[in-house]
Amino acid sequence: MFDPMIGVERVPAREVDAALLREQFDRVQGMMLMAMLPVLLLGAIHIGAVPADRLLVWVALMAAILLLRRRNARRMLLQPVPVSDGYRREYLIEWGGAVVAGLGWGSCMWLLSNGQIDALFYFRLMFLAGVCAISLGITGMSPRIYGSFLAAMLLATTGIVYTDLSREPGAPAMFVGLLIVFFGLLMSRSVADSRLARERIEARMNQALLVQRLREVVLEQQGIQLSLEAKSAALERSNILLNELAIHDGLTGAYNRGHVQELLRQSVARYNRYHQALCVMLIDLDHFKQVNDDHGHAVGDEVLRQISVKASACLREGDVFGRWGGEEFIALLPNIDLNGATDVAERLRLGIMELKFYSAARAFGVTTSIGVSQILDGETAESLVDRADAALYAAKDAGRNCVMLANELSRQTRTAA
Ligand code: GH3
Ligand code: MG
Ligand code: MG
Repeated sequence: MFDPMIGVERVPAREVDAALLREQFDRVQGMMLMAMLPVLLLGAIHIGAVPADRLLVWVALMAAILLLRRRNARRMLLQPVPVSDGYRREYLIEWGGAVVAGLGWGSCMWLLSNGQIDALFYFRLMFLAGVCAISLGITGMSPRIYGSFLAAMLLATTGIVYTDLSREPGAPAMFVGLLIVFFGLLMSRSVADSRLARERIEARMNQALLVQRLREVVLEQQGIQLSLEAKSAALERSNILLNELAIHDGLTGAYNRGHVQELLRQSVARYNRYHQALCVMLIDLDHFKQVNDDHGHAVGDEVLRQISVKASACLREGDVFGRWGGEEFIALLPNIDLNGATDVAERLRLGIMELKFYSAARAFGVTTSIGVSQILDGETAESLVDRADAALYAAKDAGRNCVMLANELSRQTRTAA
């Protein structure tokens, strides 16, 4: 049966019946040895009143019935599969066992009737009835089986009472009547007991199902959590990579123009606030078109890469180096005045000039022209770069391979290529 509230299948009634029967077998197997005690006690009471051989036969018969039932119960419980499909057979075994036990208990009457009828006789009958009550715990969980047990007992008892005790008119009818009332009480307890046991077993089985389902859900959740964590880690890695790609130039690895512009804007804002010196350097390769023409575009790319590495090495840690476009680079030099920036530019120019490149076994070098500007009060980033660009043009005009300062627009250095 499907329970929409909890989203799991509930245990089918048939399974509950089987579990109930199984529990009953379990009780049978546990209590049958205990049931030997009243048998022995009853036998002991009749020593002397009943011939010893009859007593022995009776005790042996009772013991055989009890041990057989216990053996059946044990075999049943040892089965590896739970009672479910073939449980009708087990039901019949239990039912048959209960009936035989009932007839066996009825034989107590046969034993009693052999003695004389006195006050003790009825006391013994009550003792017998008490033993029946104990048996409720053994077979009472299934009212049908228990009812058969009591009916068998009643049948045997009535038969024996009416054949053997007919000398006392009235007494057998009263006794059988009392017995019927007492068995009726036992039956009603059996019905209640069975309902309780059924509910308990059903609840236990449903709970087991729920726990199992819960465990599955938890495992599912853990799986989802793990895959989410893996995905978010991958996403984080992609984000870091994307960020790197977004601010770096693909060919040289230097900062790209967009990022340099952003850093320049921040530097200018810092200057306006704290008045810390800031210089900008525009670096353009001389006759680079010729390099491409002479050695090929791939060699040109390699030249750009190596110059980028060299330039970065020539700068300080706080400096910013980026590709401004084509074969033109830019450097932002914070906390340095024009004199200091000129020295850096000169060092850079000489450093790049010293580089040797190889193509088709021919070595060659490149030179650069550099324009430098220092920020002025109230100046914008664009104007600062424009003035560096103007200085760069001036350096080109002056014959290239030199550094020009925007603020003076005077030629500082020139070295022949
Ligand atoms: P100038 O000294 O006046 O700067 O001469 P130039 O030849 O360097 O200047 P021009 O602006 O005429 O040419 C720039 C060249 O730089 C042309 C272009 O093919 C080359 N270039 C730009 N970007 C790249 C690049 O990514 N890789 C390579 N291999 N060459 C590039
Ligand atoms: Mg150039
Ligand atoms: Mg150029």
